[in-house]
Amino acid sequence: MKPAIADGHVVTIHYKLTLDDGSVADQSLGGEPLVYLHGAQNIVPGLERQLAGRKVGDKVECVVPANEGYGEYDPAAEQAVPRNQFPADVDVQVGMAFQTRGRDGRAMTVFVREVKPDTVTITSNHPMAGQRLNFAIEVVDVRRATPEEKKHGHAHGPGGHHHH
Ligand code: ZN
Repeated sequence: MKPAIADGHVVTIHYKLTLDDGSVADQSLGGEPLVYLHGAQNIVPGLERQLAGRKVGDKVECVVPANEGYGEYDPAAEQAVPRNQFPADVDVQVGMAFQTRGRDGRAMTVFVREVKPDTVTITSNHPMAGQRLNFAIEVVDVRRATPEEKKHGHAHGPGGHHHH
């Protein structure tokens, strides 16, 4: 008997993410399912909350508002930086993610919003910030996490993290 989805369980799902304009932003169908550790913020909060208590074989539609998804869009979180601050050998494209350090010195991820010949506009808003997320989910597997997985905050094994 497989446990229902709860904190401290490793969950395998197939998912399809559709935005309100009908476009499919991401999906696992036709590829490998997603494996994540429930309760460890591996997935957006609204989806994690709505999947709690689900069981293997369940097919669920989860509508996640922006504030429980990738956040509301914050126009103040944009900054134009000179193109030469990016590595010369990288073809900078809209939507690309870069690691940088915030004013408090902590590592943060920024995304490219606009590319001009001399300047690149970056933002800490996720590319899907401000969007409602419509997930179609199929629960493929649920198992208890190992103590090591709980300590690391992510799933190991097939579909999960691999360490050397
Ligand atoms: Zn690990």
